[in-house]
Amino acid sequence: MSQKQTMNFQAEVAQLLHLVTHSLYSNKEIFLRELVSNASDACDKLRFEALENGALYEDRPNLEVRVGFDKDARTLTITDNGIGMSRQEAIDHLGTIAKSGTRDFLDKLSGEQKSSATEQGQLIGQFGVGFYSGFIVADRITVESRRAGLAPEQGVRWISDGTGNFEVEDITRAERGTSVILHLREDAADYLSTWKLKSIIAKYSDHISLPILMRKEEWKEGEDNQGGEMVLTDEWETVNKASALWSRPKKDVTTEQYQEFYKQISHDWEPPLAWSHNRVEGASEYTQLLYIPSHAPVDLWNREKRGGVKLYVKRVFIMDDAEALMPVYLRFVKGVIDSADLPLNVSRELLQESRDVRTIREGSTKRVLSMLEELARLEKDEAASDDERAKYARFWTEFGAVLKEGLGEDTANRDRLAKLLRFASSQSDLPTVSLADYKARMKEGQEAIYYITADTLAAARNSPQLEVFRTKGIEVLLMTDRVDEWALNFLTEFDGTPMQSVAKGAFDASKLQDESEKKAAEEAAESFKPVLEKLKLALKDRAEDVRVTSRLVDSPACLVAHDGGMSLQLARMLRQAGQ
Ligand code: ADP
Ligand code: MG
Repeated sequence: MSQKQTMNFQAEVAQLLHLVTHSLYSNKEIFLRELVSNASDACDKLRFEALENGALYEDRPNLEVRVGFDKDARTLTITDNGIGMSRQEAIDHLGTIAKSGTRDFLDKLSGEQKSSATEQGQLIGQFGVGFYSGFIVADRITVESRRAGLAPEQGVRWISDGTGNFEVEDITRAERGTSVILHLREDAADYLSTWKLKSIIAKYSDHISLPILMRKEEWKEGEDNQGGEMVLTDEWETVNKASALWSRPKKDVTTEQYQEFYKQISHDWEPPLAWSHNRVEGASEYTQLLYIPSHAPVDLWNREKRGGVKLYVKRVFIMDDAEALMPVYLRFVKGVIDSADLPLNVSRELLQESRDVRTIREGSTKRVLSMLEELARLEKDEAASDDERAKYARFWTEFGAVLKEGLGEDTANRDRLAKLLRFASSQSDLPTVSLADYKARMKEGQEAIYYITADTLAAARNSPQLEVFRTKGIEVLLMTDRVDEWALNFLTEFDGTPMQSVAKGAFDASKLQDESEKKAAEEAAESFKPVLEKLKLALKDRAEDVRVTSRLVDSPACLVAHDGGMSLQLARMLRQAGQ
């Protein structure tokens, strides 16, 4: 087996390292949050693998993270006794960017062409770039690790100065787990302080559910009472609360802690729009802490992508992205669900079938809808702050199109969903019109909620089918999301009023006409009969029927779909998809 090996980083890693180390940094200290959260992830992974194979604990079942430093050597070391890494895992995981979040980050950087180093620095600080953030404060990082279950001789040492390549060699390491040793840059020496490290841990890592230990300090008098200093002892103490944030009572958790926790689980750099934290008791017992992000991820449209809810059972991490816990149309929700009833070794397959899971999913769905209803309520609340009132519009812009999928997917909540819908209309450029708003503005005698679907807002607005509505002053909802056509199939009425596409045949414009207009239309139809016959003959293979219509004002002709048939928009979409 090879001993020492020098290897190059994957191209993106080199790019990232350059950015991380060269950006001016407003927020250097986040490196500790990233490394502690990796240590905590490693312990979660061990716990999970140990469910199947208890021997992995190697008689040391108490999982913990130790943070220590050596002033003389100028090193800071973060040690965990979690899952550890094999030689190959160290090469694969530390030399490549596996995490999508990091890639998103790079995309965002190049996409927005961040130019100034300060902007880059802020972005990195907000985003978090995982392991590589160590190079913010270190000019060399040594990682020593042994994977749980492997022999002590199968340890690995990984060393890099963060400029382009890294070295790996085999070592013997008695303890399971990983030590990350940061050789601090000269200007980062202030991290060699118990007080400083403790305060950073309190800020970012308090809610980590396992203990973070540091050496106790004690005061040592100088020679002949000439001054003195704090010195490290051999005794370790826990410096964080070490209780899973969601398991604490609401009143003990601050807004900042909720937001920090969100950032940790979501890899998002912006605070969430809203969250909801509840302990549910009854037939099924569970705790939920659910967040609505303030912006959509790049892969929102991938329905295959699993959701953002982590499953714990009695505070033991079970799995990320447990899709059975949330309906697909709420895949943007992030958070944690901790069940008291599920077995620890529950698998994805079992989850799909479990009755407890169904109860949890229904409960969580209701919770999310309540959060959204509250945001929608705030929008109209005079007493709310501008910031609060803007939230629902923000939500709708980012996630509205996904929520519409729920009309088809979640029959039980369709009425609640319908109230949450917002549309642009012939009277509103912005998608802010609710169906209730529309109803309140309906004209005397108007019997339906009219809408039109099109590729773009401009196309919808300029459609000839809208002309008669415009002259009559009747509002028409303009729908331009790809999902609208499909979703509207499931929403045939709102609060007793039918939904009517103006692009479909049966819509009877005569309902909008007064007597004299009706008479004129009938006369016109009569006089156009010979022309119609000719047109029908000429278009015999291309049009099902040719009619005189009163729905046009300025345009000479338009195409309509027959009722129950595909609308033009849907036909166009299918054609695009090659059907
Ligand atoms: P992320 O944590 O989002 O996956 P990081 O850059 O922080 O991304 O870490 C990269 C990978 O390196 C991790 O996914 C994990 O496989 C591995 N790793 C990092 N730190 C540790 C650790 N302390 N113990 C075990 N594996 C680790
Ligand atoms: Mg990480």
